[in-house]
Amino acid sequence: MANQKLLYLASSNKGKLQEYRGAAAACDIEIQVLPGFDRFPPCEEDGATFEENARKKAVYYSQFATGVVFADDSGISVEALGGAPGVISARFAGPDATEADNNAKLLRELARYPGDSRSAQYICWIALAQSQRVLGMFGGSASGFIEDCPRGSGGFGYDPYFFYPPLGKTFAELTPDEKFQVSHRGKAFRKLLDFLARHGPE
Ligand code: IMP
Repeated sequence: MANQKLLYLASSNKGKLQEYRGAAAACDIEIQVLPGFDRFPPCEEDGATFEENARKKAVYYSQFATGVVFADDSGISVEALGGAPGVISARFAGPDATEADNNAKLLRELARYPGDSRSAQYICWIALAQSQRVLGMFGGSASGFIEDCPRGSGGFGYDPYFFYPPLGKTFAELTPDEKFQVSHRGKAFRKLLDFLARHGPE
């Protein structure tokens, strides 16, 4: 692989784009949304794992790119719920569920569990691909507990309920930079950046 200074992100999620851009800029790498991303037929995310979905998306979207593409898949896995919501984190409360719907369902399902049995893990997998070939897979996780009451106004999704013990705060109480330092997505992405640094010019 040639020294990679431009990566295409197979997602139109502005929050993710911003997080990735900030971290990549420090390594002189530019991130752009894959041109035409919203016009391509969407890739079905029907894998049983985050890793499988990320791989599938990166391979699929790389057919539309001239360069290197990365795609991610992430979510939250709650031990007391046997790993749910897992790969269906975005649609836990149904196909058109809002973040509030998903959070409400999570709290309902955890209602009979006391605080110390509400451990949860955010998981993220990132796949890097070119011309439908996988170049690398990078995973990251962050462990915490699901709180009863929301705290903080940052982040998105389950963040106001996800308490992160090492910092004594929920993910929604962290600044974007603080969150990316410790988050599942930040950890996975820094592995990708390390990989690119090691696989420099041929
Ligand atoms: P995606 O498929 O990677 O875009 O994310 C799937 C879902 O997982 C999101 O819609 C959220 O519900 C949840 N999720 C993933 N990462 C985070 C995070 O960092 N904070 C809060 N929720 C997250």
